[in-house]
Amino acid sequence: MKSEELSTVQWKAVLDLLSRHGVHNICFTGGEALLRSDLLEIIDYASQLKIKIIKEESARLAEQVSAPKLYLLSNGKLVDDTVLDMCKRNNVQLSVSMPGLRTFSELTGGGDVDKILRVFEKARERGLSTVVGITVTKKNLFELYETISAAFLAGATQLLLNRFLEGGRGRRYAQELALSRDDLIIMLDVAEQALHDAGRYGSVGTELPLCLFNPDKYKRLEISTGCSAAKDFFVIGPSGKVRVCNHSPIELAHYAEIGTLKMNPYWMKFAQSDYLPAMCNGCKDVGRCAGGCREAAHIVGGAIDAPDALLV
Ligand code: SF4
Repeated sequence: MKSEELSTVQWKAVLDLLSRHGVHNICFTGGEALLRSDLLEIIDYASQLKIKIIKEESARLAEQVSAPKLYLLSNGKLVDDTVLDMCKRNNVQLSVSMPGLRTFSELTGGGDVDKILRVFEKARERGLSTVVGITVTKKNLFELYETISAAFLAGATQLLLNRFLEGGRGRRYAQELALSRDDLIIMLDVAEQALHDAGRYGSVGTELPLCLFNPDKYKRLEISTGCSAAKDFFVIGPSGKVRVCNHSPIELAHYAEIGTLKMNPYWMKFAQSDYLPAMCNGCKDVGRCAGGCREAAHIVGGAIDAPDALLV
């Protein structure tokens, strides 16, 4: 049974809690976060928070107080002038998904790519920095260079690239959409070239196994191989339950019991990186590689220490 979503008041309580814990990067995502009619009110609230951070300065610990850095991830359908003005007002970094040009309508169930390009243009007119989010599949790989270039020409300032993962509804389309190892290298090479040609930078959002690519080849594309779930970030879902990351279907403690997570065995597997596949035993790179996305491996292989789908 689907749990009830948190109310506006409860989301504000979540934000208060996070601020007391010193969380200084907050990302609003979904599904589609803008489907909540109170989202702008919640983000306005978040922007007023004051976060205490202890930093080392000149060999001494110093306390700093600042507003959190805010991020909004959207499919762009509901991004209008009001949303863009809110982003500008609150210094929110907006990421908009644009998985293709000719394939956009098919991949988004009838969406209009010109609307997304117009979002980037309007954001640029306001002096807002934006990120184009591209989930790469077998279907849109052929036009990846053109897609990245079109987004940059319209005004996007950075690239966030992801490979298609077999989570949720995506499982049904895995055969049609999942990249092969060769496709993955094409994806990385094309993105690096497009970033080089545009003079921009980008990153790959979902961890890749380090043994699949040569990291020295990529100067403008940052490719993560270590997993930050339950270490540097976590997710609070619509009903207030904590998950280790956005790919994880496993709901752990309610946000009000966040202090119990250090006793939760599932959380601790991620916090202590206790999840490497057997194939990684003895690898010299285990200190900087999580063997790919552990939650994607969990969904496909049935366990968090299953091999990454690209290595099977
Ligand atoms: S830790 Fe595993 S996935 Fe990562 S480079 Fe080594 S063998 Fe490959």
